[in-house]
Amino acid sequence: CFCQVTGDLDDCACDVETIDDFNNNRLFPKLQRLLESDYFRFYKVNLNKPCPFWTTTSHCGLRDCAVKPCSPNEVPEGVRASSHNKYSAAANEHQTDCEQENRLGAVNVSLSNETREALLSWNRHDDEAERFCVVDDEESPDSQYVDLLLNPERFTGYRGAEAWQIWNSIYEENCFKPFTIKRPLIPNVLHSSAGNDAKIFHSWLEGQCVEIRAFYRLISGLHASINIHLSARYLLDDSWYQKKWGHNVTEFQKRFDADLTAGEGPKRLRNLYFLYLIELRALAKALPFFQRSSFQLYTGKVEEDQKHKGMMLDILQLARSFPLHFDETSLFAGDEKEAAKLKEDVRLAFLNISRIMDCVGCFKCRLWGKLQARTCYYTHSSLKTHLMSGNCFGALRWRQIEALPTSDIQGPAFQLSRQEIVSLFNAFGRISTSIRELQNFRELLAEEQ
Ligand code: FAD
Repeated sequence: CFCQVTGDLDDCACDVETIDDFNNNRLFPKLQRLLESDYFRFYKVNLNKPCPFWTTTSHCGLRDCAVKPCSPNEVPEGVRASSHNKYSAAANEHQTDCEQENRLGAVNVSLSNETREALLSWNRHDDEAERFCVVDDEESPDSQYVDLLLNPERFTGYRGAEAWQIWNSIYEENCFKPFTIKRPLIPNVLHSSAGNDAKIFHSWLEGQCVEIRAFYRLISGLHASINIHLSARYLLDDSWYQKKWGHNVTEFQKRFDADLTAGEGPKRLRNLYFLYLIELRALAKALPFFQRSSFQLYTGKVEEDQKHKGMMLDILQLARSFPLHFDETSLFAGDEKEAAKLKEDVRLAFLNISRIMDCVGCFKCRLWGKLQARTCYYTHSSLKTHLMSGNCFGALRWRQIEALPTSDIQGPAFQLSRQEIVSLFNAFGRISTSIRELQNFRELLAEEQ
């Protein structure tokens, strides 16, 4: 079935139509409206962190790579207050980890000792060794609010050796590169032996365990999504009197057409659907957290906040109702020792990818790359790796959560920061938009014929 990764890489009889119909006609329009709200449009990010891996990173200087940060008065006060707080439910109180621990100890007398210990231990792990990603220090003077609606992901012109170096690092260093393959791991379509590279790569991949194949597909799905966006919002006219952005069918075909990419294109698109299903599954699992009455989308505008919370729950209910959910039970299900080793490898790979995003020379690409990398961890939780997660997806520790009584899950101890919620929904918004854009491209291609 489409939703299980148990056989070879192409085992899924892609039920693309079901997903298209669900996403394009039902979920996508609702999500778009939600993401326009004040709560979801402002994201705090540090785009000035140095690249931790190599020193030659230059800022590309392309005009369309620039990111316009918000001036302080553009960001609603309630958003600023709730973002400074790590925990969204207590939006207008400042609360340190330490205070949180004290509160947990003092107030939650109803929790069993075991549960309390588990919660405290998760908090302790938040900033420690078992983290999955590097998160920006929001208090740093280099961290700034960005209006995501004013800085859309689209064609920037970022390309060439630097962009390739980033993608190569992501795939080669983190996708468990086989030592037997000397050439770049990803099939290089510009290379004269592209078809051969692709063959070698896929035969290697098919021999790998299901978790590694799933991991590769996630990264490839993200890569496909970025490249769909830049083809759908391509700079079509750059004359002195106007700038026009729109669909560039040739660019899309160049990247995804089966013949032009040595048969790789359709595979990459399937990986996008795969990523969609995983993120959808993760959202569906998140529903109980957002259903708590104490949870609020706080911006300070009470009526709007309530309306947006309703819209958000509606989307999560819809996600839950999807009939073909990804089935994660086959992942990390083998020998305990091996599974633990694999989980650690996957954790480190995710961690590295989040660091690599600080090496992206184009600020606009870096912004969206960082935001989406943060969601990789969320997805990671959905993949049932169930490690103690760090700040990034601190509240989404599925196995532990599932083991707790519902009353505890709905209690105040499980929290997500506004930043986490904003990145989660916006990253899913990117994938959902990519799926919608595929329909646009199909229609444009049909018109051309
Ligand atoms: P690339 O997309 O750079 O691909 C490099 C190699 O990977 C090629 O061998 C290709 O065959 C292989 N490959 C391509 N797609 C896949 C896939 N889905 N799965 C597996 N292998 C694949 N550009 C913008 O205009 N706007 C943006 O917002 C933007 N964001 C970016 C974010 C990040 C994090 C990065 C690293 C780059 C971003 N770029 C963006 C650049 C863009 O992704 C491409 O790198 C650029 O357009 C050059 O494309 P290319 O055709 O050379 O191949």
